[in-house]
Amino acid sequence: MTSFETLDLIEPIRRALRDENYTTPTPIQAQAIPHLLQRRDLLGIAQTGTGKTAAFMLPLLHHLATDRRVNAPRSVRTLVLTPTRELAIQIGDSARRYGRHLALRGAIVFGGVGQNPQVQVLSKGVDVLVATPGRLLDLMEQGHVRLQDVEFFVLDEADRMLDMGFIRDIRKIITQLPKKRQTLFFSATMPPAISELAAGILTDPIRVEVTPVSSTVELIDQRVLFVERADKRQLLAAVLRDPAVARMLVFTRTKHGANKVVEQLDKDGIVAEAIHGNKSQGARQRALESFREGKCRVLVATDIAARGIDVDGITHVVNYDLPVDAESYVHRIGRTARAGASGHALSFCSSEERGELRDIQRLIKREIPVADIQPFGIKPSTAAPASVRPERAPGGRPRRSGGARRRG
Ligand code: AMP
Repeated sequence: MTSFETLDLIEPIRRALRDENYTTPTPIQAQAIPHLLQRRDLLGIAQTGTGKTAAFMLPLLHHLATDRRVNAPRSVRTLVLTPTRELAIQIGDSARRYGRHLALRGAIVFGGVGQNPQVQVLSKGVDVLVATPGRLLDLMEQGHVRLQDVEFFVLDEADRMLDMGFIRDIRKIITQLPKKRQTLFFSATMPPAISELAAGILTDPIRVEVTPVSSTVELIDQRVLFVERADKRQLLAAVLRDPAVARMLVFTRTKHGANKVVEQLDKDGIVAEAIHGNKSQGARQRALESFREGKCRVLVATDIAARGIDVDGITHVVNYDLPVDAESYVHRIGRTARAGASGHALSFCSSEERGELRDIQRLIKREIPVADIQPFGIKPSTAAPASVRPERAPGGRPRRSGGARRRG
């Protein structure tokens, strides 16, 4: 397996990756980084969640740092165009983290906010500019930024740019770029208009296509159950009463949490095993075997420990705690519905976990439906939408939308 240590990135970047706890490049990183370090153009067919930001940012930071230049006023060395303000912030944040030991200058510009702070940062020239097209054009037209010195150009989420009506703006921006540059083009899909655009701006690109992590997600029946933290244990036991649950993988945030769930299930007479970093290799192996052979129906794991688990026939994945990192959600639920089988993913969301749920839904670009089982006696948490919560309006009368708690 490739590791970041074998890629020819300079030490300060590798150090930043260690800070991030990245050890293994994702497929798009392993495939793209060596070519990008050779200054090849790239056509990347990939969507968010595949690690594409680091795939382009790491080699570009490497180039910027190994060939330092004095920033001329209002000049830009790397331009990253992305369709939305959220993506611009995310990419800018990644650049800052991966480049934290490099002392490069960066800026993020997007519309909907005052332009003065953006103008100020740009006035001194930047190594990396992450921008949405509309605001960038405005700033260009006012002379606050010039693109003649761009060496690296990244067009991110090209298909979304098309959907959002940005293609004309993008063409205008491209006319201002020097011909000699390295260009990286990313799109999740390649409709004809996008292929044409790519063909027009790339020179002999390498093509890297990665299957989105979320493709298996289509086969998984995802549900959320709103429940207070204190009631999760009871809920899990209730879910396990369903004989359709043949093999269940339960995720907790911490090792301690994993042990506790196993103890609680034990009290309820349900055989479960935990695997996590504090267990010896032998103990983990035994737990996995017992799960694989069906001796125990429930395996409780932390995200890190679950990485090496390759067990077929997992019918249910339970997010006992929602993951802090939304990306982990996709990895977790991908443990079920292997090899074309269908699977179920249940997420237990307490009122403290609303933010995590929002991040997950944003990442997978859909709302997770509420499970139509709300086991008897377990109240939905206050994170639940009003239609699920049996609240009462002031005055004691049930709310019109409340009361109708869904039952299975
Ligand atoms: P992206 O597709 O660029 O939005 O990245 C998705 C998520 O994966 C982000 O939260 C990154 O921090 C994370 N990530 C990217 N590359 C790696 C890696 N090699 N190891 C672990 N996490 C990563």
